[in-house]
Amino acid sequence: MRQSQLFTRTKRDFPKEEESKNAQLLIRGGFVCKEMAGVYSYLPLGLRIIRKIENIIRREMNETLGATEILMPALHPIEKYKKTKRENIDVLFHTESNTGGHFVLGQSHEEVVVPLVSNFVSSYRDLPLGVYQIQTKFRNEFRAKSGILRGKEFLMKDLYSFHTDEEDFDRYYKKAQIAYRNIFNEIGIGDKTYLTFASGGTFSKYSHEFQTVTDAGEDIIYLCSKCGVAINEEIIDEQKECPLCGLTKDKLEKIKSIEVANIFPLKTRFSDAFNLKYKNKKGEACPIIMGCYGIGVSRLMGAVVESLSDKNGMVWPESIAPFKVHIIPIDDNSVSEKIYTDLNKQMEVLYDDRDKGAGEKLKDADLIGIPYRIVVSPKTLENGCVEVKRRDKEQAELIKIEKIKSYVK
Ligand SMILES: [Zn+2]
Repeated sequence: MRQSQLFTRTKRDFPKEEESKNAQLLIRGGFVCKEMAGVYSYLPLGLRIIRKIENIIRREMNETLGATEILMPALHPIEKYKKTKRENIDVLFHTESNTGGHFVLGQSHEEVVVPLVSNFVSSYRDLPLGVYQIQTKFRNEFRAKSGILRGKEFLMKDLYSFHTDEEDFDRYYKKAQIAYRNIFNEIGIGDKTYLTFASGGTFSKYSHEFQTVTDAGEDIIYLCSKCGVAINEEIIDEQKECPLCGLTKDKLEKIKSIEVANIFPLKTRFSDAFNLKYKNKKGEACPIIMGCYGIGVSRLMGAVVESLSDKNGMVWPESIAPFKVHIIPIDDNSVSEKIYTDLNKQMEVLYDDRDKGAGEKLKDADLIGIPYRIVVSPKTLENGCVEVKRRDKEQAELIKIEKIKSYVK
């Protein structure tokens, strides 16, 4: 893509009203634009990142968990929430239709997915079943000041699983942990993201969260250095030791973090509310065991920004970077045009064809944070070379033009 075609541009200064690093960097880099507190537009560069994160999540949902993607409505009738006794939860946005109907904007989809699935599931042969969606969710947050880490409107992947019994659910629940781990590893925050024991509420002893360690986090977790899991502060009072290895509470490390995902056993809480049952081999009606599994897609992007930026801007991992290569021509244009046309056939390239000075182009390149920067200048071209620098490295290297492809592959 030619950078002159991007209608967005970078900003020199930090937006004053933004407190969080992720919002400051994303707005300065032209990835997002703030509409109001907790509500953002995703601009061309930001949307490319979101789509890549989504596709990594899709692959794990489809291949590791054998789940199927659907898309459910965001507008829900309040009647279904009365059935589950969730009509009064404080984060729900309420709205009315012209004809007097009372609706809420979805912050979670149990009230929609369970009646939906009951149309199609009746026998043990139909189970297990996993369905998921990637969709805009709404939460009536009291305060939203953490950029895209905590929004009133945000993108989320939510998966719901349906099982004949607890054993089958347990297998799926463990597989979901593997799928999630694969996702965090691939987008570059695996080493900072911990499986965290959280309160299970009324359904079970524990649910689990995935918490990414960052100073911007609003949560506190207690980390067990011995086995690499954590415990959420909310349950730490009831907990005397690490639930896995028994390391005593005083030896756990207290640290700030952000919840990027959660997985939750639902037992029969929602299948009971909507009378969702299956027939076993003997033809007896039995309750269906459920689980739900969320990942904050836009929040994940924010967590990557918080974790993988430096003083000059973003340092996107290749897996989710908006482009792989950023070509910066200085003075010369004919050779850089040729390099761009050639590379662009094989990989995603952003080509800075704007009529700007070298200093401004290089500053913008650091701010945008594309993994490989190629500077094409008359000086190095004398030797048939360009200067290639990885965004996460200090030193640039001189590479022969014909070797560029193999170098960045
Ligand atoms: Zn432990």
